[in-house]
Amino acid sequence: MEKYTKHFFNNIRKKLQEWETAVAIPHEEVYRFIHSLAGSASVLGLHKIGDRSRELMDRYEEKEGRTWTISEVKEELFDIIQYCYQYEEESIGVLPGKQSRSGEEPVILLIDDDTSFLMYMKEELEKIGWYVVPIANPDKAIISYYDVRPDCAIIDIYMDGTNGFEVLDFFKKKLKQQFIPTVMVSGENSKEVRMKSYQMGADDFIAKPFELDEFIVRVERQMERKKQMEELVLIDELTLVYNRKYLSQAYAQVQSNWARTGDSYCLAVLDLDYFKGVNDRYGHLVGDQVLKKFASQLKSETRVQDTVFRFGGEEFVVLFPNTSIKEACTLVDDIRKRFSQLKFQAESDFFCTFSAGVTEIADPTKPFDTWLKLADQALYEAKSSGRNIVKMDGKASEHTPHKTMKIAIVDDDPIIRTVMMDIVSKLPGEQHIQYDIQTFKDGAAFIESEWHMTNPCLVILDGVMPKMDGLEVLERLRSRSDSDRYKVLMLTSRRSEKDISRSLQLGADDYMTKPFKLLELEARLGQMLKRMR
Ligand code: GH3
Ligand code: MG
Ligand code: MG
Repeated sequence: MEKYTKHFFNNIRKKLQEWETAVAIPHEEVYRFIHSLAGSASVLGLHKIGDRSRELMDRYEEKEGRTWTISEVKEELFDIIQYCYQYEEESIGVLPGKQSRSGEEPVILLIDDDTSFLMYMKEELEKIGWYVVPIANPDKAIISYYDVRPDCAIIDIYMDGTNGFEVLDFFKKKLKQQFIPTVMVSGENSKEVRMKSYQMGADDFIAKPFELDEFIVRVERQMERKKQMEELVLIDELTLVYNRKYLSQAYAQVQSNWARTGDSYCLAVLDLDYFKGVNDRYGHLVGDQVLKKFASQLKSETRVQDTVFRFGGEEFVVLFPNTSIKEACTLVDDIRKRFSQLKFQAESDFFCTFSAGVTEIADPTKPFDTWLKLADQALYEAKSSGRNIVKMDGKASEHTPHKTMKIAIVDDDPIIRTVMMDIVSKLPGEQHIQYDIQTFKDGAAFIESEWHMTNPCLVILDGVMPKMDGLEVLERLRSRSDSDRYKVLMLTSRRSEKDISRSLQLGADDYMTKPFKLLELEARLGQMLKRMR
């Protein structure tokens, strides 16, 4: 970088540092500072800074009887500071930035009503490559558990409304079935609070304030334990059928049997229909009961030689040895008929159905995924033809998108809209999922549109817009009865704590501060879409 430019940036730093320790900054001093920026920036060719400084100068008289606080100054000079950052960044090339995201990074659910704490932790933990889902509203924590499937939940004890212990209690009930470590954090470090945490089953208690490096080590240790547990367990503890991990072992068995005996196998993938609706209507605990019942029926109604696996959420896999595809279809269809007649009891009685796809494992030397894909394709054909049906894999059949996901880009800046559209349309597609992407030039245009009223919808929402700003859009979405359908990524155009904090309180699912690295945006969208499937 040019010597003078460097000097220029360093002067800004020095001035800010100096002001940081001042109680009140005289207005004249601020004015003179902006004035000198305007002059030197233009000389040095830093036109963005020059232009911005002149704009600011127009807003103020040289003499005004006021003083400034450092945060007011920083807020006012934010753009300039940011340009400095950008110019500097450009001149030293792109920083290595955050660790690249593979989709395999640890996922942390962070529940705390103190939004500055959320922001701080999110930033710090993401630096080490963790993915942090910040939750400011504890009532949302319970729903998030299902969407996020975290590797560790960190829960603040004292929150407005729902108490951290209530959240812990819910998680612990769940955790009997799925081990997810919980770490309680609290500003109150009394023996009583610590004891209560442990008695209620928390895995660790960390008092605030803490040293970040120690915090990280302690959470890492919990996640390590989780990994070890998972390696030991082959049974899904909610439904008591085999889990997905055992499926790969079972397939290895299929392969060796086939080499020996040439037995033929079939594979069925079964998925409950509209199961999200069951959760929404009757609650997750009732949903769990349905899953248990479904699994136990699968086990009792298949033959002894067949093996049932819970593949994930509400999706099950059955392996049928020595079975033709027609036989397998008949078997599954019989189960389907009986299951659909089963009455479940909640506030009101209800029925549940599933759809299934069946395929033949024609050549077990091929990887398991080959067959899974075929069965899955048949499953999605079953779904698109109305559900509660069993489909045989038709091999030649085209890949049929089953689900449409909407992605809205709501931003008043046409440049950003263009760049983002480019990124979003290049997101790697998912089998059976089709993206429908639209851009909106302000909040009002989006809210008034009918387009987003159906299907899961990911909204990339600019915080500051004319007409209706992002916060208001978010508030409106969250007050809808089908608010769950929307996932919102807020783009806060300044590092304004207030905006981020408000977004989190209103129920944004994630946020990014502008300007962001495009790669970072891409990674985040990937993470969010993964959770919407
Ligand atoms: P479709 O007919 O297209 O399959 O619709 P669906 O609603 O069943 O499918 P979707 O994949 O949209 O939703 C699955 C839901 O299953 C979402 C998730 O909250 C819920 N779920 C996943 N795991 C569990 C669990 O362990 N317990 C409960 N209660 N719900 C779960
Ligand atoms: Mg389903
Ligand atoms: Mg599903």
